[in-house]
Amino acid sequence: MPLLNKADAMTSPAAETLNFKSELKQVLHLITHSLYSHKEIFLRELLSNASDAIDRARFNSLENEALLEGDRDWTIRIQVDLEAATLTVSDNGLGMDREGIIEHLGTIAKSGTRAFLERLKAADTAVRPELIGQFGVGFYSAFMVADKVTVVSRAAGSADAVRWESDGQGEFTVASAERTGRGTDVILHLKADEHDFLESWRLKGLVKQFSDFIEHPILMTVEKKKEDVSTFEDETLNSRKALWLRSKTEITEEEYHTFYRQVSNDFEAPLKVIHVQAEGTPSFRALLYLPKRRSMDLQFGDAKAGPRLYINRVLIQDPCEALLPAWLRFVKGVVDCPDLPLNVSREMLQQNPLLEKIQKNLVKQVLKALEELKTEQRETYAEFFKELGQILKEGLSRDWERREAIADLLLFEHLKGEPGKGITLAEYVAALPEEQKDIFHLAGENRATLAHAPSLEAFKAKGWDVLLLTDPIDPFVIPGLPEYKGHPLKAADRHVPEIPEAEKQKAEAAAGAFQPLLEFFKTKLTGLQNVRLSSRLKESAACLVAAEDALDPHMEQLLARLGQGRGPSPRVLELNPEHPTIQALLVRYQADPKDARLEGYAQLLHDQALIAEGSRPEDPTAFLARINELARKDLA
Ligand code: ADP
Repeated sequence: MPLLNKADAMTSPAAETLNFKSELKQVLHLITHSLYSHKEIFLRELLSNASDAIDRARFNSLENEALLEGDRDWTIRIQVDLEAATLTVSDNGLGMDREGIIEHLGTIAKSGTRAFLERLKAADTAVRPELIGQFGVGFYSAFMVADKVTVVSRAAGSADAVRWESDGQGEFTVASAERTGRGTDVILHLKADEHDFLESWRLKGLVKQFSDFIEHPILMTVEKKKEDVSTFEDETLNSRKALWLRSKTEITEEEYHTFYRQVSNDFEAPLKVIHVQAEGTPSFRALLYLPKRRSMDLQFGDAKAGPRLYINRVLIQDPCEALLPAWLRFVKGVVDCPDLPLNVSREMLQQNPLLEKIQKNLVKQVLKALEELKTEQRETYAEFFKELGQILKEGLSRDWERREAIADLLLFEHLKGEPGKGITLAEYVAALPEEQKDIFHLAGENRATLAHAPSLEAFKAKGWDVLLLTDPIDPFVIPGLPEYKGHPLKAADRHVPEIPEAEKQKAEAAAGAFQPLLEFFKTKLTGLQNVRLSSRLKESAACLVAAEDALDPHMEQLLARLGQGRGPSPRVLELNPEHPTIQALLVRYQADPKDARLEGYAQLLHDQALIAEGSRPEDPTAFLARINELARKDLA
C-alpha cells in the first residue's frame, strides 16, 4: 500500500499498526480543533455513511441477491452504553474488508486535500461543517467527541470481520474480529466532557435536526416509564419522509431547506426550490435546488454533476449525470422515477430513453425558474449570475437547441451602464438606435481598460452602446451565439459602425496623401499585418485591431496563458488621420522622408496603441528612453 507507512515492526497479518497518511494527520488536527463549535455534526456524518453503505448494499443486491444473506431488514441503529460511555452507530450495509478499511479510514481519497486544508483554515466557523461534507472526511469528525474510535466491520459476502481502532493521533491498528452478519459498527469512546451525547433526548434532537429524511429507519432502544415500571422499546427516530413524494402544499420552507442541506452540503439556504411533479410518460418527481453560491466542488473543477436518481425511493445513482447537462451542474437535488426499471445496470440505465425525456423536462423547469428569478428579483438574480453565470454560459456553445433560452438569461456589463450592473440582450436590443442593427461587444481583462479602448471611440461618438465582456470564458462561448433575435453579434474591434457616404468619400480623398507615410510605417515596424488609416478613432492617435481572419486577441492571450494556441496573430495598426500628431508626422515626412526621428515616432505610436489596450510595449526600456528624450527636448 504505497500511501501508508508501516509504523513499526508489527508484522503479524492479524494485527498491525499503521500510520495515517500525513495530510490526513493535518486534516484530523484541523477538524478536531477548528470545528469544535459544531461538533454535533459527527452524528450526521456517521448516519449518512451508514445510510450510504445500506444504499450500496441494496443496489449491489439487485444484481446478486446472495449478498443479502437473507437479511433485507435495512436498519441503522444507535446504541448507548452508559457504563462504558460509548456511543455506537451500526448498520447492515455493505461493510468493509481489511483492505477497504485501511483504504477508506486511513487516507483521503479525494483530490484537493491541500485546498481543503487551506479553505478550512480561512473559512468562517459557520461554513466549516459544510466543507467537511464536501471533501469526504466526515468520518474523522468523530474524533471531536471521542478520544478513541473503534470500527468493527464485515463486508457483504465475506466471512471475516475486521477491527480498526485509533485515538486519532496519527496511528491506527487493524486486527481480525468477529461480527454477526454484514455491516459496520462505529463505536465512539466519548471524551469525559462529551457525555451528553449519551442522553437519548440529545440524540433524538440531533437526528430530527440533521437526519430526519434518511430513508432507512434509525432505531434506538429507549426507556419508557409507565406507572414507575420501566420498559425498553425500539423507537424509530427519523420520520423517513421522502420529501419529494409529498405534495407541495404540505411542505414547509424549513423542511425544503433542511433537505437541501442534506443533498448539497451547503450551509446556506438555497436560492430557489423547484419541485416538479410530472404525470405522463414518464411520471416522475423531482426536487431541485438552485444554490446561492458556487460550492467548493464547483470551484475546484471536480464537481459531480447531476441530481441523485431514485427509483421508487431506492437510491440508484448519486450523482446521475444523465439527468442534467453539464452546464447546469450547480443544480442539486433528487429525481425519483418509478417508471424506470430497477433491475438494470447503471450503464444500461444511462441509455434509457426515459432519462432523456426527464432531462428535457428538468432543463425546461430550471430555465423557467431562472427566467422568473431574473424578471421578478433582478438584484438577487444578478448575484446568482455573478457566482454561477460562468457555468450557465457554457451552454451557449454546448447546447445548440437551448441557445436562445440561455442567451435570454445572460447579463453583461456595458459601456453605457454603471460598473457592476448588467444588461440583458433583450434590453440592449430594445434600446438600439434606429440606424444600429448589430449587437457590438468587446472582450478584455477588465471594465476600466475596456471602457477606454480606442476601438470604442467611434461607438462613443455615435452614442452606441457596447457590451463589455470581462468574464474570461466569454471569448470562448460568445461565438456560440452568432445572433440574437435577428441581430448579429459583432466584435467592436473588428467592425466599425457604418460610416455615412459623405464622410467615406472625404476620408478616401485624404487617404492618398497618407499612403507613403503608411508604407514607411510598414517598413519600420515589424510583426504587423498591415498599417492603415482608421475610421474608428476620434481622440487617440493610433490603435491596434485584429486582422479579419485572426482569432480574437483577448482569446489568443487566454489560450497562450493555458499553453495553447498558435501565439499572437499579426495585428493591424490603425492611424487617426484627424489627429494632430499624425498630421504633423505627415508634414515632417513630406519635408524629409529620411528624418531619423520618424522611425522613433512610429515605434512610439505602436507602443501607445499597445498600452491603450492594456498590453505592454515590447521593449519598455526603449519606450521610456523615447519619452524621456522628448521631455528633454521639450524642456531644453
Ligand atoms: P465520505 O463518506 O464522504 O466518502 P468519510 O470520511 O465519511 O467520507 O468516509 C470515508 C469512506 O469510508 C466512505 O467513502 C466509505 O467508503 C467508508 N465508510 C465510512 N463509513 C462506512 C460504513 N458505515 N460502512 C461502509 N463504509 C463506510
